[in-house]
Amino acid sequence: MNELIATLRAGKSVFVLTGSGISAESGLPTFRGVGGLWRTHRVEELASPEGFARDPVLVWTWYNERRGAHERAQPNAGHFAMAQLEDVLDDFTLATQNVDSLHLRAGSRNVLELHGSLRQARCTHCSAGRSLGTAGLPLDEIDHACGGRWRPDIVWFGESLPQDVWQRAREAAARADVILVVGTSAVVYPAAALATNYNRRAFVAEINPEATPISNRVACALRGSAAQVLPRIVAALSSGETASPDLFVRPCG
Ligand code: NAD
Repeated sequence: MNELIATLRAGKSVFVLTGSGISAESGLPTFRGVGGLWRTHRVEELASPEGFARDPVLVWTWYNERRGAHERAQPNAGHFAMAQLEDVLDDFTLATQNVDSLHLRAGSRNVLELHGSLRQARCTHCSAGRSLGTAGLPLDEIDHACGGRWRPDIVWFGESLPQDVWQRAREAAARADVILVVGTSAVVYPAAALATNYNRRAFVAEINPEATPISNRVACALRGSAAQVLPRIVAALSSGETASPDLFVRPCG
């Protein structure tokens, strides 16, 4: 029997780390892939405190477009498979680097949004919060009454992750029997460290059509898309069958 499925069956605790690749089949561009977001925009202009201080209207124009794209996108079979997996496990934690809310919309419950969410804005001065509608933040409302500015409530380059979220993610990764690493290039730290740095005992499986820097350190690498592979894992888990071996580059037992 395939070792991943067997380990998932026997395992009490599962931790999942996802990146922008899981939302690719929902039509949202990845970060570094072909057509990726940062090929058409300079990171430091759009996703840094300095860029925001320089040109908040440009930054909000870009994030408002992304917010609209997130709302128009629908969760795909990969997101739904993760919600189904949570339903059959006692201890399931999903940490995502994505800010698109698609895991929550697919029905996942124990979701840690490591890089925040585009559903919310936060004041740069008083840290007040504000929910964003589908159109994002009106450009004439960027200034907040306290003297600060509303900014997207997401983690920009050079900023720290929210400490409580990070702590919970580290604990969940450390106690997991199985870790699934889905659709991430595993190069954005500290999030990438959750895949392999906090647990030497877990069975780690990577689901990604391409190799990444952690591919040589995982127990098995499944070279397929999230929407193809994840439903097959969940189906195999619930039906008693093993997953199709053609998906496995480094077979799991
Ligand atoms: P990344 O672009 O660096 O890596 C994406 C990975 O997904 C690549 O390794 C690629 O091979 C893989 N991939 C592409 N299509 C896939 C598919 N169908 N199924 C499975 N894997 C697939 O993205 P990252 O590692 O998430 O890091 C990027 C940063 O960008 C994160 O901080 C994240 O917050 C941000 N981001 C978020 C979104 C979003 O919320 N949807 C979109 C773009 C960027």
